[in-house]
Amino acid sequence: MSLWEIIRRLYPYVLPYRRLIISTLLLTLVGSLAAQVNPFVLRYTVDTVQSLLNRNLGLAQGLNMLLWVSGLLLGKEVINTFIQFGQKFYGEKIRINVSSTLSQDAIHKLLSYELGFYSDSGNQAGKLQTRIDRGVESLMKLVQNFFIDILPLFANAAVALVVMFMANVYVGLVAVAVLPVYFWISYQQADKLNGTRRALRGLREAKSQGLVNLIDSAVVIKSFVREDYEEQKQAQVQQNLQNAQLETRKTNFLYDGLKTFVEQVGVVLIIILTAYLVLDRQISIGAIMFHILLFNNVSAPIRQLHRIYDEMNEALTYSEGFFDILDADDAREKTGSIQPDQLRGTFEICNVDFTYPSGTQALHDVCLTIEEGKTTALVGLSGAGKSTIINLLCKFYEPDHGKMLLDGRPLADYDTHALRQRIGLVLQKNHIFKGTIEENIRYGVMDATLEQIQAAAKQAYLHEQIMELPKGYQSDAQQLSGGQQQRIAIARLFLKNPPIIFLDEPTASLDAIATEQIKNSLDAIKKGRTVVIISHSLAQIVDSDCIYVMKQGRMVESGTHEQLYDLRGTYREIFDASARSLNIEKLARVMVDDEDEVGDTAA
Ligand code: ADP
Repeated sequence: MSLWEIIRRLYPYVLPYRRLIISTLLLTLVGSLAAQVNPFVLRYTVDTVQSLLNRNLGLAQGLNMLLWVSGLLLGKEVINTFIQFGQKFYGEKIRINVSSTLSQDAIHKLLSYELGFYSDSGNQAGKLQTRIDRGVESLMKLVQNFFIDILPLFANAAVALVVMFMANVYVGLVAVAVLPVYFWISYQQADKLNGTRRALRGLREAKSQGLVNLIDSAVVIKSFVREDYEEQKQAQVQQNLQNAQLETRKTNFLYDGLKTFVEQVGVVLIIILTAYLVLDRQISIGAIMFHILLFNNVSAPIRQLHRIYDEMNEALTYSEGFFDILDADDAREKTGSIQPDQLRGTFEICNVDFTYPSGTQALHDVCLTIEEGKTTALVGLSGAGKSTIINLLCKFYEPDHGKMLLDGRPLADYDTHALRQRIGLVLQKNHIFKGTIEENIRYGVMDATLEQIQAAAKQAYLHEQIMELPKGYQSDAQQLSGGQQQRIAIARLFLKNPPIIFLDEPTASLDAIATEQIKNSLDAIKKGRTVVIISHSLAQIVDSDCIYVMKQGRMVESGTHEQLYDLRGTYREIFDASARSLNIEKLARVMVDDEDEVGDTAA
């Protein structure tokens, strides 16, 4: 990205604050003019004192002048205090406002992207976070530099330079001669830093992603006692970062030193030249202070220019990553216009192929029909592609090709948000947000009353357990057990009350009693709705209206439990293996013996 491109992108963000910017600029300009007062006053003071001394006059005669000069300098400082306050405060106000708009924009965009965007390895949570933070930070510096600082700085330097030339052409020439050397060194410095900066950016992203991973994997790390290994891994990233940072600092200090040297050479040259001119009686002694202060007024903004140049380069490096996030329009979730008011819920999938953004082809030529008001089960070993079908039905991803119809119309033509409003999704592991149980269940319907929330919790067999907690519905939901968290997800489903329900192993993390309870309540909610269920629990599969069997991304069998069982194919294989894993024969024997005993006693 070029600098102009970045400024063009920033322009709409600063436009709402144009009045504030103009006021700040004016304040700064007044400030830079006020800064020129000191050299004049000092020259006048020195010359007057000198002439008093020459005439053998003393304090009595100079007092008036001293009062006058002090009043002027102090008055200027009082004005300056207000100018500085206004300039800094308004400048900061613009920066803070623009930065929050930029961050909010990034969040808005992130939320509008499809799931594929997040699975890209360059878009892991920690990396995105660093990219947004650093991007906004460096863009803010750019706003400060280009919309607030640069003009007054130039004005300040230019005014001081003009005054210098007016005072004495040779002195002006010395000041001008030093500047190109100063610029050349700054340019070399920036050039040298460019490569390191890019590397720094990558390393910073890697470091925060590493941290996020560490926190996410805390349990596994501890259970396998891999603390040392993980520490080493982070230490390596840290070491690389450290090296790059030190390299940057080294370059900076070296070139900064050179620039200070050049500046001091300028000061020395001006002192020598002015002293010569004073001794030659061409100008008064007051000119020494006058010229040095003027040169300082020229070189101080130039020193700032280097900071601007530096921050501009930094912005070039970091804003690229930031705007990549804002510009990922290809990742925008697609939507259609159909508002599914009277949804029946018949899905027809025909010859669908699907490949994840990572390149894994998860579905091959899949066909199936999900009938409205019926329960359809998807069966298959792990990785067969069952969850992928649900992902496609929710429009989380789009198929590579093939037909997907809902109630006879292309799924893609439906308004994505409206469609998802009518779908209830319960996964094997559902996300529980930081917050209370009440807030977490309310996610199903944001304006639900506490009574409705409690009713949903009762249907999910959760209410009584919540009531036993010291803080009841106000307890921290993330502290609940896996099974209880699962019931929160099911309570959300009851609250949302959608016509279409997708259950992806909803009872996988529940104990046997809870599974039975949840099965009962799911059986109740299934009535009259279109349900797709993925489950390894035979009990939930056998009474489905239709069962589809998948193997390695392909649909291999379909029918009712009886039909598939008799077919002696993949379904039978999975069914028999499940039965064996449950040790059903023995269980059945135990139950038969138990019944016999009861029968004997009764007889
Ligand atoms: P199932 O639900 O039958 O266990 P999935 O539909 O989850 O299977 O997975 C099917 C295939 O797609 C697997 O090979 C899996 O590794 C792959 N897969 C699933 N989710 C993703 C993803 N987000 N990105 C890349 N590949 C994925």
